[in-house]
Amino acid sequence: MPWSDSTAVVWFRRDLRVHDQPILRDAAARADRALALFVLDPALLEPSGARRRTFLYRCLRALDESLGGKLLVVKGDPADVVPRIAGAVGAATVHTAADYNPYGRKRDEAVEKALGERDVELVRSGSPWLTEPGSITKSDGEPYKVFTPFSREWTKRIAGSEPVETDAQTVRWMDPSDRDGGPRAAKIPDDEAIDAELPEAGEKAAREQWEAFVDEHLTDYDDVRNRPDKPGTSRMSVHLKYGTVHPRTLLSEARGNGQGATSYRNELCFRDFYAHVLWHFPRSARENFDPKFDRITLDTGKQAYEKFERWKDGRTGFPAIDAAMRQLHGEAWMHNRMRMAVASFLVKDLHLPWWWGARHFMDLLVDGELSSNQHGWQWAAGSGTDAAPYFRVFNPVTQGERFDPQGDYVRRWVPELADVEGLEGKKVHEPWKLENPPADYPAPMVDHKAERQEALNRFQAL
Ligand code: FAD
Repeated sequence: MPWSDSTAVVWFRRDLRVHDQPILRDAAARADRALALFVLDPALLEPSGARRRTFLYRCLRALDESLGGKLLVVKGDPADVVPRIAGAVGAATVHTAADYNPYGRKRDEAVEKALGERDVELVRSGSPWLTEPGSITKSDGEPYKVFTPFSREWTKRIAGSEPVETDAQTVRWMDPSDRDGGPRAAKIPDDEAIDAELPEAGEKAAREQWEAFVDEHLTDYDDVRNRPDKPGTSRMSVHLKYGTVHPRTLLSEARGNGQGATSYRNELCFRDFYAHVLWHFPRSARENFDPKFDRITLDTGKQAYEKFERWKDGRTGFPAIDAAMRQLHGEAWMHNRMRMAVASFLVKDLHLPWWWGARHFMDLLVDGELSSNQHGWQWAAGSGTDAAPYFRVFNPVTQGERFDPQGDYVRRWVPELADVEGLEGKKVHEPWKLENPPADYPAPMVDHKAERQEALNRFQAL
């Protein structure tokens, strides 16, 4: 079937929604109809891990349903398959959101070049962020390395930002079987075998989760957001990762909810901040942002690996740390306060490289996002931008007592300690104080006080 030159391709990536979707607005402005496309790119799928892949497949199924079954899925290198698809439907434009991650930038340059050879334009509309990474700099053009001044500029920039009005009908979708040749359609892969309970996937699920959070928790967010024992945070990270909601929508709908909304906006600002840092300093995904830390002594031998395994398994003997590591296994998510606590424990109590922990998080987190994860880890290790001062070492017991004051979080995730007489309330954070501690729960694997001093000595030696 011949296509007029007013056909477009809408290339979805990590923006698997139809509402507040600038790509649809811009595709509708340039073409009469569009082909909805998703490319299963092995370079991205392989490192994603089974949990994120499964979540992605579920989001794709939900998106396909909202497009009336018109999503074309193909497998391959985007620089090869996207131009061939554009050719197969006679598209003049391919619409997508800008990607600022190191891999995404290179991929899009290659796709743009290959499309250009066929006279097809790659049109970038919006991005997964509230502000385009790289667009906020100091007046001399230098990047911000400290959060607070960045956030002042950011706040000015996002003032008045409102969702874009789009839905599935904004674009007239082509039936993918009407294309003329090009790469073969692939089936959305089946879920993989995973041992975690993932959140509901897709745009509708994101909407429901968000509305429940706004109704029940947003007003108190500032007070409760540090409490892993309470359901007080939004759990939007996974939806922001896959773009089943845009942060613009969240920002706009959170407004007017007092301190809770202000605090929530601040967290969204952190998300943008780290994306800006990654854009300016792509090497910070893999290396110490502060090169001074290249010289710090780290443990890496056989014993270090054994310690790492105990940390991963949630068998450190510190109940709050173990609860958090088991939450990561069970839910593919961990509360922010506990991400900070377990990261501090790995770096400062066990003296292991932060990137070991970061990689483990990226393997298991369903919201695993390079910029937030690597910089969250570097913050805890003291080697990042705007990092926690190295001498601030989280105490794994007092973190538990402060943020899980009744011990409910520990009892939920560490069943060995759930019903032990003598470990009622916050006593559960120090099971070793019992005359007969439970035999099936390990004794603390390190002496926190001694390891804290060891961490400080290593830092001072720099
Ligand atoms: P809420 O408290 O409801 O926050 C709302 C949103 O703000 C979040 O969804 C997230 O997008 C953003 N946000 C909140 N805190 C931060 C933060 N410290 N840094 C950046 N953005 C933030 N977040 C990820 O999305 N992916 C990761 O891989 C990731 N790894 C982390 C690793 C470490 C060591 C640390 C300390 C933090 C990490 N974070 C990561 C940030 C944060 O822990 C999660 O975004 C948050 O726990 C997600 O839960 P929520 O959606 O209920 O958060």
